[in-house]
Amino acid sequence: MTTSEPANLAAVEAEARRRDAADPGHRHLFHVPPAQGGAHPEVAYFAGNSLGLQPRATEADLAAELETWRRLAVEGWFESERPWTRYHELLAGPSARLVGARPTEVVVMNTLTVDLHLLMVSFYRPAGERTRIVIEDNAFPSDSYAVRSQARFHGLDPDRTVVRLRPRDGEETLRAEDVTAYLAAEGDTVALVLLGGVNYLTGELVDIPAITAAGRAAGAVVGWDLAHAVGNVPLALHDWDVDFAAWCTYKYLNSGPGSPAGLFVHDRHHGRSDLPRFEGWWGNELATRFQMAPVSRPAATADAWQVSCQPLLAMAPVRTSLELFDSVGMPALRERSLRLTGWLAELLDLVTADRPLTVVTPRENHRRGCQISVRTGGVGAAELTRRLRYEHGVIADSREPDIVRFAPVPLYSTHHDCWRAATALAATVDV
Ligand SMILES: *Cc1c(COP(=O)(O)O)cnc(C)c1O
Repeated sequence: MTTSEPANLAAVEAEARRRDAADPGHRHLFHVPPAQGGAHPEVAYFAGNSLGLQPRATEADLAAELETWRRLAVEGWFESERPWTRYHELLAGPSARLVGARPTEVVVMNTLTVDLHLLMVSFYRPAGERTRIVIEDNAFPSDSYAVRSQARFHGLDPDRTVVRLRPRDGEETLRAEDVTAYLAAEGDTVALVLLGGVNYLTGELVDIPAITAAGRAAGAVVGWDLAHAVGNVPLALHDWDVDFAAWCTYKYLNSGPGSPAGLFVHDRHHGRSDLPRFEGWWGNELATRFQMAPVSRPAATADAWQVSCQPLLAMAPVRTSLELFDSVGMPALRERSLRLTGWLAELLDLVTADRPLTVVTPRENHRRGCQISVRTGGVGAAELTRRLRYEHGVIADSREPDIVRFAPVPLYSTHHDCWRAATALAATVDV
């Protein structure tokens, strides 16, 4: 406790404990790292939007595949309890439930930026006047580099081809109506719209169905980067008529550093022989894959986008994690998420009121997932997160120069974690 800490914040610790007793979440299913500073033995972890915590069940599931390799070696591809040639099928059902898709529309493979490139090979087809790629100005850098390099790949000038939509002056987030107005006005020059479903920086949950409908009405292809949306907010990609999407599994999906990504291709695109793809043998239908024919027979599902054989030791933790999501269910997680993030927002109101800090994430539930981003005013974001970590055991992350992100993750974060974040912030930033 410091003198600069609002008294009313100290008084709510007991309330945080009460809320946790009534609403404990699934923290017991995860390894929570020990704290290196502060009064509590475990960290208060808010970086699950960057790397999710390790589920306790992961180690045994990974060990089971090591054991299969040890015992069966090459036969593991066909003869094990979970044959490796079909292992990705175990991930398709639960992935599809998370993103609101049919299992045939989803496949787990590669990593996110690689998948975005493979999808753009199929779905970014500039022709005539229709060449533009629309992204958000604060897109994650990898997405920005990917679309610029795709423009170059087609012999186009990235500065003229990639359109970066900006919020209105004085506003933090892009209004959906401004995106749809742009698409209505300029849509016949747009080949591809590729936006983040939840913005990595501001935490804004974008209006995916409205923008998808506007992009498609304008004749463009609409894809979504769901790195910060999957496992965070409910999604209905099939019904929203999204053309394609991709997401990583190491953030909210807790599948480990660099774990394989997921992708979605709407089934109206399956089996289209006019769509180019960069192919490899794993995109060949399983029934004829090992006939080793010189010309491919692509699978009639999203599996056709697969290229190489699967990294099994990296896939096992994805299965562990998706089963956990399946058993809890996204509706229950979203409800808990709204309670936790709503509580953090209330506590941050107390802290930001008399400090040079501003919350940039939209306040309305339908416009945010679990992340709350705080602009730090004159305080350096990196130094602030360093002090939160070493003085208080609170793990948030900074995005230079002045954003600190807090993501209370509904599977394992607690109300008491939120209380710790708010009190630590109050103690760290002078009034
Ligand atoms: C995390 C993230 C990525 C990371 O891409 P990798 O290819 O997995 O390294 C890309 N885009 C967005 C929006 C992200 O949040």
